Amino acid sequence: MKFSEQKGKFVKHCPCTPEAVSCGYYNLNLHTGCPYSCSYCILQAYLETKEPVFFTNLQDAEKELLDVSRTQKYLRIGTGELTDSLALDPQTNYSRKIIKIFEKFPSVIFEFKTKSANIGNLLKLKKVLRNIVISWSLNPQEIINREEAFTPSLAARLKAMEQVQKNGYKIGIHFDPLIYCQNWKPYYRNLVREIARVINPGRIAWWSLGALRFPYSLREHIFKHKDSMLFEGELIKGYDDKYRYFKPLRMELFRFVKQRIYSDVSRDLPLYLCMEDKEAWQELLPGIEPGEESVNRYLYQSATA
Ligand code: SF4
Repeated sequence: MKFSEQKGKFVKHCPCTPEAVSCGYYNLNLHTGCPYSCSYCILQAYLETKEPVFFTNLQDAEKELLDVSRTQKYLRIGTGELTDSLALDPQTNYSRKIIKIFEKFPSVIFEFKTKSANIGNLLKLKKVLRNIVISWSLNPQEIINREEAFTPSLAARLKAMEQVQKNGYKIGIHFDPLIYCQNWKPYYRNLVREIARVINPGRIAWWSLGALRFPYSLREHIFKHKDSMLFEGELIKGYDDKYRYFKPLRMELFRFVKQRIYSDVSRDLPLYLCMEDKEAWQELLPGIEPGEESVNRYLYQSATA
């Protein structure tokens, strides 16, 4: 791990992908790199260095935030694009610095996105800010064992989720990537049931569904994971040069998981799709206007309700 100055921009509009309905998210790149090395992680192909880097000129990040927040009424932003937001938090305590920054931006929603159970710093805070969302990327334990082998267990993540929820934080959930494999239905059915046991549906800020996708350049990294199941579903090269499941397979995954969430957790949940087109939105989430502005406003309002 190293500390360095960010020479480029901290705040970036999420690039999403052409043809997909963007959710209007922004990324705040305060640190990069991740120790978990998941099989499907595109950082393994994108980042020049595998060593996590933490940027030190946070006053510049704050200035950028001020500029962007003046132009965006419903700003949602997070540090989870090029890193896991909390994986190294016990060593760096960056979450404390981040929360101090967002205390000054009460109308901007900030999201910590993690697979860790590192919530110690969040629990120590006396005051819970209403504009902070703590999100977990979740997969069934059978998939964690093979694709996310260096991450905390599902049980540890759910326990952490339960604790921060009790403390008053809103929770985000990301089913991303959804992975097709033998037994995927019982795996995801059980995952949703386990979440339903710990979550208060009224405290969920948002819940994303995104299917596996990766660039060709990631294949060598995937091959290092000998037990990987990433090639069990039929993959095709998309218009953005990324490999993803054939659309009927993606829709089957989304339909099944959505139904399980509706029947085991609640029908009244802010679900959204990551990197899917208008047609998929219209079929799966017909109550939401599939456009960047409307989706972003919907998720922002859900997080602040
Ligand atoms: S849908 Fe996913 S990729 Fe697209 S803008 Fe939102 S977070 Fe980014």
